[in-house]
Amino acid sequence: MEDKSVLVLGGGVGGVVTAVELRKKLPRRHKIVLIDREAQHVFAPSLLWLMVGLRKATRISRPLDLLRKKGIEVVHGEIERIEPESRKVTAGGQSFSGDYLVVSLGADLAPDAVPGLSEAGHNFYTLKGAEALHEALESFQGSRVVVLTAAPAYKCPAAPYEAAMLIDSYLRRRNGSRPLSVDLYAAEPGPMRTAGMEASKGVEQLIKAKGIAYHPEHQVVSVDAKARRIRFANGTEAEYDLLAYVPPHRAPRVIKESGLVDDSGWVPVDRQTMQTRFSGVYAVGDVTTIPLKMGKPLPKAGFFAHAQAEVVVKNIAHSVTGKGAPAAFDGAGECFIEIGGGKAGIGRGNFFAEPSPTVKVYPARWKWHAAKVLFEKFWLWKWF
Ligand SMILES: Cc1cc2nc3c(=O)[nH]c(=O)nc-3n(C[C@H](O)[C@H](O)[C@H](O)COP(=O)(O)OP(=O)(O)OC[C@H]3O[C@@H](n4cnc5c(N)ncnc54)[C@H](O)[C@@H]3O)c2cc1C
Repeated sequence: MEDKSVLVLGGGVGGVVTAVELRKKLPRRHKIVLIDREAQHVFAPSLLWLMVGLRKATRISRPLDLLRKKGIEVVHGEIERIEPESRKVTAGGQSFSGDYLVVSLGADLAPDAVPGLSEAGHNFYTLKGAEALHEALESFQGSRVVVLTAAPAYKCPAAPYEAAMLIDSYLRRRNGSRPLSVDLYAAEPGPMRTAGMEASKGVEQLIKAKGIAYHPEHQVVSVDAKARRIRFANGTEAEYDLLAYVPPHRAPRVIKESGLVDDSGWVPVDRQTMQTRFSGVYAVGDVTTIPLKMGKPLPKAGFFAHAQAEVVVKNIAHSVTGKGAPAAFDGAGECFIEIGGGKAGIGRGNFFAEPSPTVKVYPARWKWHAAKVLFEKFWLWKWF
């Protein structure tokens, strides 16, 4: 058997699971190289806790270099070029080539696509932005908080809804009976619509029960940071004292230039094997697009990136060693929905169900919050 090499592009959820699991399945003479521009892997679900002071950056981050002790080559550098036909990659000025390529470069965040947005508010989808939001919440003296989704599709469709509920709980506990309004302006027509109407209604009930005013189908067009005013495409405006937002997403530039994307701007894959149209090239996680019968693509979420990576690992290992059995991604998914006060709901179901995903949202309980805390600890322990 020839020695093989696998290039794993990205050290986020999909990349780390691929590299670590593949290392367990492939004999050491086969090389696994993971490339990322960041030195640290951040457990993104915990950014919501960090934002309300329940976590520090060090507790939810791990150096990617720790993967070296597992037998994975870790390269730090910007991936500048991907040639899928020859499976060649240029990163940090160096050239790499692989028998297999697993692309897990996630979604780039583009706050600058909305005039005024980045100066006006806090992008809690990044570690820096979530830290800045925490500082702003700690010293908040105003009364009007707006949580905004700047485009209708974004990773972790529950996150802005959770953010609104966590901010509401945090400020009510901290500021007592001082007047407070939390408004959620969403570009989409309803929460988590890709999970089906039942799940969407379930999340809407959670936020309404908290007294959060919900304004769906409000597509932001610009924000005036000085006047603290948001303008929407439907002609309405909203004022705020503190703005927390989810920015528009787009595929990383290097992906767009690689010829891997289709008209959606994301990477189409076989929905069972995650293979792209290029032989030996797979893509997992947020960078991919998987159309669903209901007319929208599979939502972007770590749960899916993880499950898809496990499928790719089994299939690459089977093709290299002939051992194990090939696997298929089945569209099953779940996510916790934090509501504050130490409670969370959970949404769970089959996103490949037709004609529409069948996802059920279970009521908020302390046990789901405890399960998310355990999952965070387990994640950081298992992979690093
Ligand atoms: C606040 C928040 C809460 C969330 N909560 C949940 C949750 O509860 N449940 C859930 O399932 N999902 C959740 N998610 C979503 C989840 O984090 C993502 O869906 C998941 O990380 C996707 O994994 P990925 O491997 O596709 O991409 P990522 O994890 O984003 O990894 C992409 C990696 O590629 C690297 N990269 C990109 N471009 C380049 C380049 N040109 N050169 C070098 N490196 C590059 C990046 O540095 C990054 O490390 C949440 C996300 C956020 C922001």
